[in-house]
Amino acid sequence: MEEVYKFFQRLTDVSDWPPRWLCGRWTDFHGWLYILSDLTIWLAYMAIPLILIRFIFVKKGVPLSGVFVLFGAFILLCGLTHLLDAVMFWWPAYRINALIRFLTAGVSIATVIALIRYFDEAVGLRTSGEYDRELAFRQQAMQELSRSNEELQQFAYIASHDLQSPLKTIVNYLSLLENKHQQQLDPEALKLIHVSTAAAERMRVLIHDLLDFSRVGTEIDFEQVDLNEVLAEVVEDQQTEIRSTGATIDIGPLPAIRAHRTDLKQVFQNLLSNGLKYRRTGVAPHIQIRAVDEGNQFRFTVRDNGIGIEAKYYDRVFQIFQRLHGRNEYPGTGIGLATCKKVIDIYGGQIGLDSTVGVGTTFFVVIPKVIKTSQHYAQAHSLYPTH
Ligand code: ADP
Repeated sequence: MEEVYKFFQRLTDVSDWPPRWLCGRWTDFHGWLYILSDLTIWLAYMAIPLILIRFIFVKKGVPLSGVFVLFGAFILLCGLTHLLDAVMFWWPAYRINALIRFLTAGVSIATVIALIRYFDEAVGLRTSGEYDRELAFRQQAMQELSRSNEELQQFAYIASHDLQSPLKTIVNYLSLLENKHQQQLDPEALKLIHVSTAAAERMRVLIHDLLDFSRVGTEIDFEQVDLNEVLAEVVEDQQTEIRSTGATIDIGPLPAIRAHRTDLKQVFQNLLSNGLKYRRTGVAPHIQIRAVDEGNQFRFTVRDNGIGIEAKYYDRVFQIFQRLHGRNEYPGTGIGLATCKKVIDIYGGQIGLDSTVGVGTTFFVVIPKVIKTSQHYAQAHSLYPTH
């Protein structure tokens, strides 16, 4: 301990040794070859950490930057040992030299441990060639996806138009049949006409909902949408249902969001109409809509006092055509919540629910304040051309 204490006390004391020039027999050539080589190595070793530091600053988000820093410190200390070796030809600072070597030893061991520990992670890092290939692959996949999306939309559009006109003809002829030949038809035949008309109406709603589903989320011409106005419209559209059920709708102050108006209207329209539809017998629906500012996103809640949903169905209700009730119990197509989810997924948000059977359901919708769909991204950042 005494020795260690003395060592540090006399750290810069060089009186115990002669300068290296006087230690042994050096020719000028030999001595200067040693000194100049050590100084050159030191300069190079100084430059490497500086380049590494610059690299970390210029290229932000470098993976494993801790290993870079350790590696830089290791090289810097190695350089210092070479500088001291050259200086010792005049100034025999053996104590400082030993201390620097000790530090170098510590940092080199830490670097070795870090390199071993992060080896697998470093092997997993992609090279720029691998990134290029992945990017090209993704771009190709995205092109195929948007083409198939376009095809699907076109299919939905054509199907809706082409299916709607024969459907109209069927409905018209059924009502003509009923009106013109009511006297000749027996009650059984009239019942058959009514069943057929109801089925045709269901098909019309189904086609309409499918068209909505295929259309939402595809428009990227965003505008500032005041949700107070949107909700007022939604409530107005549902007035008949609200009056007939004696429902009360309580809407808190809502924000404005830059988005596509129809998309947002679809979401709240579906949630509100479900709140009205899935009511308990004998209980007037009470629906509460709130918005909370959570910094970079808004959280909306739509709470009802209806029949509720069992926990095991929380995910299933968002799948297209999935219904928990028979058509005769509650009418519907099973497309509404899937449409909401499609919009919210495309907007980079979240949708979910919490419910107690026989008490009510709360749907929550989280929407980022700045909505950026993949189409916006593709527009803003030009990708590499596919090879
Ligand atoms: P639809 O209402 O046309 O059946 P949705 O996709 O809107 O289709 O809803 C899917 C299913 O989720 C519904 O069939 C219903 O069983 C259930 N559901 C949706 N909203 C509610 C709600 N507020 N309360 C209880 N059940 C609901």
